[in-house]
Amino acid sequence: MSAKLDNIIFIDIEATCWEKHPPPNQESEIIEIGVCLVDVALAKPITKESILVKPERSQVSEFCTKLTTLTQSQVDGGIAFDEACLKLRKNYDSLERVWASWGEYDKNMFEKQCKARGVKYPFGMRHINVKNLFALVKNLPKEVGMANALQLLDIPLEGTHHRGADDAWNIGKISAQLLLQARMTI
Ligand code: AMP
Ligand code: MG
Repeated sequence: MSAKLDNIIFIDIEATCWEKHPPPNQESEIIEIGVCLVDVALAKPITKESILVKPERSQVSEFCTKLTTLTQSQVDGGIAFDEACLKLRKNYDSLERVWASWGEYDKNMFEKQCKARGVKYPFGMRHINVKNLFALVKNLPKEVGMANALQLLDIPLEGTHHRGADDAWNIGKISAQLLLQARMTI
C-alpha cells in the first residue's frame, strides 16, 4: 500500500530511566509520546502534542525527572499504552503516513513494547531515521545529537530538551530545513 505523503509524523518518546541499570523488577517504559506533524508542501512543522503514558512496570526515578522534567504524578495522569497507540492511529493516520524520529531508539522502543504487551504496532513500514539522514546530507564524519544538529543549522532549540513534544518539534524543524534545502537544488 502506498503511503500518504501530505504530512510526516515526527515521534520522540521519553521513557523511564536510571543512571545505570533499572532497579530489580522494573524495566524502561514509554512515558511520553511527543508528536509533531510537518506539512510536506509547506515544509513547516504545523502541530505538536504530548501524549503522556502511565507506566505499568516501572516508576519515574529522580534521575528521570531531572532529565525529562516528567514526574510520577504527571505520568500517573497519562493514558494506557494501548490507548496511546490507538490515538496515534485514529488521530494521525499513523499506519498510512511516513513517520520519522532521531535515530532508531524510538522505533526500537515501540517495537519492543508493542510486542511485549500484545498491542498493535501503530506505524507503517516507512520510517525515516533523521539522525542518519542529517549526517549523510551534511557530509558529517559521524551522526550527531539533535541539539548539535540544530546548532549546525543555526536553528534555536525551542522548548525543553528531553521533553517528547518539544524534541519532536525540533526534529521536525531540522527536517523541514533539509526538505527546503533539497528543493532549492532541484
Ligand atoms: P531523549 O529523546 O534524548 O530525551 O531521550 C529519550 C529517552 O532516552 C529518555 O526519556 C531516557 O529514557 C533515555 N535517555 C536519554 N538520555 C539518557 C541518559 N543520559 N541516561 C539515561 N537515559 C537516557
Ligand atoms: Mg526526547
